[in-house]
Formats: sequence, C-alpha cells, structure tokens
Amino acid sequence: MQPVLSLSGLAKSYGKIQALKGVSFEVPEGAVFGILGPNGSGKTTLLSIILDILKADSGSFAWFGEPGSPATRKRIGSLLETPNFYHYLSAVDNLNITHAISGRGDKTDIDRVLEIVKLTERKRSRFSSYSLGMKQRLAIAAALLGDPQVLVFDEPTNGLDPVGIAEIRELIKELAGRGKTIIMASHLLDEVEKVCTHVAILKRGTLITAGSVDEVLANEDIVEIASADTATLLELVKGFPGYTHIKQDGNKVLLYFPIGTAKLAEVNRYCFEKGATLSHLYAKKKSLEAKFFELTNENTQNN
Ligand code: ATP
Repeated sequence: MQPVLSLSGLAKSYGKIQALKGVSFEVPEGAVFGILGPNGSGKTTLLSIILDILKADSGSFAWFGEPGSPATRKRIGSLLETPNFYHYLSAVDNLNITHAISGRGDKTDIDRVLEIVKLTERKRSRFSSYSLGMKQRLAIAAALLGDPQVLVFDEPTNGLDPVGIAEIRELIKELAGRGKTIIMASHLLDEVEKVCTHVAILKRGTLITAGSVDEVLANEDIVEIASADTATLLELVKGFPGYTHIKQDGNKVLLYFPIGTAKLAEVNRYCFEKGATLSHLYAKKKSLEAKFFELTNENTQNN
C-alpha cells in the first residue's frame, strides 16, 4: 500500500543549529504516527516542513505519492499552534470564521465536527467560558473542517490537566477509528505508547528509529522467525513455552517474550524437532531498546 507520507533525507538548519539532519521515514495509511523526542529534537521543524510552513534545506517529502502537489492540501488538517479564537464568540461563530478564512468545510460541517469533539451541548457558549481541554477540542474541531483524511497535531495534550489529556487521547483514538491517519508530535513516551500505532524517534535532529510501536517500544524480547510454510510454522510454534503472544507479519512469525527470557537456540531446536527448518531467526529487541535508552537518557539529563 502506498504510504500517506514519505520523507526522504529532510534537513534544515537555523544558522548554526542543525534542527534536522537527513530524516527519512514513511507513514502508513490509517496509522496514528507519533514523532517522539525531547524538547529541541526537531519535531516542530519537521511538522512545519511537511505542512509547507517552512522550506527544507535539502531532502524531500511526498503526500500520497505526490511531491509538493497543492491538490493534496485539502486532504490534510492540522493543528500546530492554538488558533486565535475570539474569546467573546461561541464555538459555532468561531468555526464559521475559520471556515470563511480557510474555505474548508461548509455550514453543515460545523455541527458535524462539534459533535465529534463533544462540544455540541456547549456550542453556543462563549469561548472564554471553556476549560483548556474544551478549547483544545475546539481547535481540533477546526482542523476537522472539510473532513480531511490526514490530521497533523503538534503536542496536542501539552498544558492540559489529566482530564483534558485523557479526553484528547480518547478523541485521537476515536478519529483513528474513523479511518483517519494521524501524525502527532509528543515528548512523552507514555503518550506514544498509549495512543500511537507507529513511532519515529528523533534525537537532536537525527532519526534514531521508526516502526510500529509494538516493535520499537515493546518492553519485550521479540523473536522473528520464518520458514517455507508460514501457516504451518505459526501453528506449530504455538506449542513453544514461555511466550506472551504471537503475531504473523507477512511471511514472518513474531514471538514475544518477557524481557530477557527469549532463547533463540531453543526456538530453533523446537521448530526443527517439530519438522520446520527455519530460513530466518532474529532477535529484534535488544538494539532498539538500547537506542531508546540512549534517547531517554539524554532526556533525563535535560530535565
Ligand atoms: P519543542 O518541543 O521544544 O518545540 P521540537 O522537538 O519541536 O522541540 P524544534 O522546535 O523543531 O524542536 O527545534 C529544533 C531545534 O531548532 C532546537 O535546537 C531549536 O532551538 C532550534 N530552532 C527552532 N526554531 C528556530 C528558529 N526559528 N530559529 C533558530 N533556531 C530554531
């Protein structure tokens, strides 16, 4: 399947500061894709480039396989900074203004987006009477005008109280359930683990790793195996003791073990004794965990 977004070698400097140093990854359709990194790692710069707010020094990106096509812009809704809503106007009046300025959606769309963000009951109240969480939900409603296929959010839960954070995370999951692809920056590992399906980890402008959250952040050892007959392999390996779960990924079978308990040789022997010769045997976890430790370690020093 064609990725929704692909980045190839994106680089950007502000004078002497290299904010992005050649970043490449792909965002699959339907993903909730977290861009995870400590403050200053380049997340906002990256989002600004893919939204055409900033120009990269080198490298390229393509939405829906079309490099720089303006036709794709209507398919992307974004929230980078909190919009300047009028404090004395209601949610409906504010969204009417957003619609008039951006050309996104129409009058009927306003009720639809307010329903999604659960502001219908308060849609006639003044913006100034809203909680921070409600204000952020209205900002997300503005991004939803015109029903874009992709949503890009920069730190969507920043500054909110625990209730507001939980509401926004729920809303993101709900939008994903409606088939949207979501790209969001976050500096919280916990948030990415809870909300995202995929992650790209940035450290000082360099991509440390990217992939599905299961693979990148799982607190587990993952043993990847393959043989000529994947279906048979999947069935027979279910009898192997000690794993927490098993997943098929294309022509590979992934076995998940509690951290530190996977024994490659035993998996290999077990499969062989059951009649399957492995063409592939690989422990995935360790290097990724080490890479992530590198990142969080620096995070701790920064705080
Ligand atoms: P934060 O969460 O703190 O916004 P971030 O991961 O989004 O961090 P960026 O805002 O992209 O990171 O910043 C990356 C680097 O580029 C940082 O060192 C930052 O100080 C620098 N930077 C960002 N914008 C500018 C600018 N307009 N002028 C100079 N330096 C900048």
